[in-house]
Amino acid sequence: MADVIRSCVACRHKQPQETLYRFVCKDHEIRLFAGVGRSFYICKICIDDDKKLAKSTKRICKTSKDLSNNIKTALSFNNL
Ligand SMILES: [Zn+2]
Repeated sequence: MADVIRSCVACRHKQPQETLYRFVCKDHEIRLFAGVGRSFYICKICIDDDKKLAKSTKRICKTSKDLSNNIKTALSFNNL
């Protein structure tokens, strides 16, 4: 079976889906994707790049808030 390829919203690199984290933006907050809403992907490298993370999540969630901590919280809650 062919790999599902998705692009990271921060660096735009195309990668197999299993190397990306999948999130959803709801009410200007970011959570791990749980089956509903418009999701987006971020690669593991960009997760560690706070600047990149902040910039791309602002764009996606249409907010001026820095949501990079949102992402880190979502990941730590799920032990990822
Ligand atoms: Zn990336």
